[in-house]
Amino acid sequence: MPHVMTVLGPVDPSVLGFTLPHEHTQIALWQIPGRYDYWELTRDEPVILDELRLFREAGGTALADLTLPGVGRDPVWLAAIARASGLHVVMGGGWYRNPYYPPEARIDRRMTDELAEELVAEATVGVGETGVRIGILGEIGTDKPWVSPAEERVFRAVARASRRTGLAISTHAAQSPVGALQMDILEEEGVDPGRVVIGHSDSYPRLDHYLGLLRRGASIEFDFLGMAFEPTERHGEARVVDLLLELLARGYGDRILLSQDVCHNSQLRRYEGNGYTYLQTAFLPRLRERGVSEADVARLTVENPRRLLTIA
Ligand SMILES: [Zn+2]
Repeated sequence: MPHVMTVLGPVDPSVLGFTLPHEHTQIALWQIPGRYDYWELTRDEPVILDELRLFREAGGTALADLTLPGVGRDPVWLAAIARASGLHVVMGGGWYRNPYYPPEARIDRRMTDELAEELVAEATVGVGETGVRIGILGEIGTDKPWVSPAEERVFRAVARASRRTGLAISTHAAQSPVGALQMDILEEEGVDPGRVVIGHSDSYPRLDHYLGLLRRGASIEFDFLGMAFEPTERHGEARVVDLLLELLARGYGDRILLSQDVCHNSQLRRYEGNGYTYLQTAFLPRLRERGVSEADVARLTVENPRRLLTIA
């Protein structure tokens, strides 16, 4: 039976309404060598639950938390968050990007198939002793505009796990056309491109790049929406909206996903950020003003993420 694998078990895909396909409910990104800031979305249950309540009140029903081992993934935390928030929460699996690979994953020492085997086990049995299963592979990243040897191994392992489990793959491809290289590897491994989402596409707003990925059958994800860390993010939305409208006009509405990638405390409403509700409160109204139909809004925010998370 087709289903969505949430942290509380499988559910019928039809229960997923408005869904955020790329978020975090806690993540720490500062603990690697050479990083001296304290970038994190603090693991603070009452604060996060309050933010998620606002998302639910605005019509949200589900989210995928793509925090991976090495930056704080915790199945028990996610199960508690899902229970307390009433949201359907899907947990990601795999490894993030080279500087964040946890030493215990031994990415450089294990063969690709062994890594794939671990992911298949997480999809079928669960993570460790928790019994909590992953429902998507991601976010699987490249740290730079190229693919490191270890990252290539991870991409191949993830591809093989996707082929065996049917799980979709969601990538981290920031500020460069590296998503095309990620696709090269996934295609070479025989992954169904319909199960691939190239993430952070809005951080590289180029129509040709988008069309290249879409023509290969992948989906693209605008998931930095509402971010305001960089000037390009603070002032770049008009261009992203123009590109999105162009892609809708060209008939690609079924291959675009939207999210906000909340990964820092400053993004929370409590701290004057947009929280998990930027799409509902700001971005979608802007699309509607530009003439985007309710059918297209539903495609972008309900149908596409549901299809992505549905395991055949
Ligand atoms: Zn992310």
